[in-house]
Amino acid sequence: MKTILIATKNRGKAKEFDEIFKPMGYQVLTLLDMTEDLDVEETGITFEENAILKAETISKYFGIPVLADDSGLIIDALEGRPGVFSARYAGPEKDDLANMDKVLSEMKGIKGNDRTARFHCSLALALPDRKTITTFGTVEGYIAEEPAGTNGFGYDPIFYVPTYDKTMAQLTSEEKNNISHRHNAIQKLKRIMNELFNRDDHVL
Ligand code: IMP
Repeated sequence: MKTILIATKNRGKAKEFDEIFKPMGYQVLTLLDMTEDLDVEETGITFEENAILKAETISKYFGIPVLADDSGLIIDALEGRPGVFSARYAGPEKDDLANMDKVLSEMKGIKGNDRTARFHCSLALALPDRKTITTFGTVEGYIAEEPAGTNGFGYDPIFYVPTYDKTMAQLTSEEKNNISHRHNAIQKLKRIMNELFNRDDHVL
């Protein structure tokens, strides 16, 4: 059976990727299935660079196809911050509450339509002896004045989604999964994979 390794320890993310690759006949593994713990430092200055770095380093090491993602929040009024530093914005502890507090204090005095933001997700699929495939997805919204909702993770409580008139953390996981940056990036990858798969059964 053909195997693909997802460069994550997050079972939620792994499940989303499972749904793409299972129907194509792949066994889907995550870093939790590997005996060796490879920690790739995210030194890139873009989401895409970090996703490629992770996917190619791990693929080279294990010699199998690897899919990696890198995601975060981009706020226009903050010149794109927290961006690739989203997880550690308020410090190395990766504290979601501290990260949101920092964003809200930096956004003080910025009103209404000037609070535009988006979540971004870059995906990289590294294939031994082939060029790495990349896609990205985004979801547009606004930074709320204060947190609301308890679902999701990260910046979800302060990310207002106009089409639902709710924050991301007030959406059900199904609602979020239908519109999320990760979902959009995965859909694009799925289309590319289907084209490659139909053209050449031995692509991976
Ligand atoms: P990573 O791609 O899992 O490393 O995510 C980086 C950081 O971006 C996370 O720690 C969160 O702070 C933020 N982030 C990424 N995706 C989401 C999301 O769907 N909701 C809220 N925050 C997110």
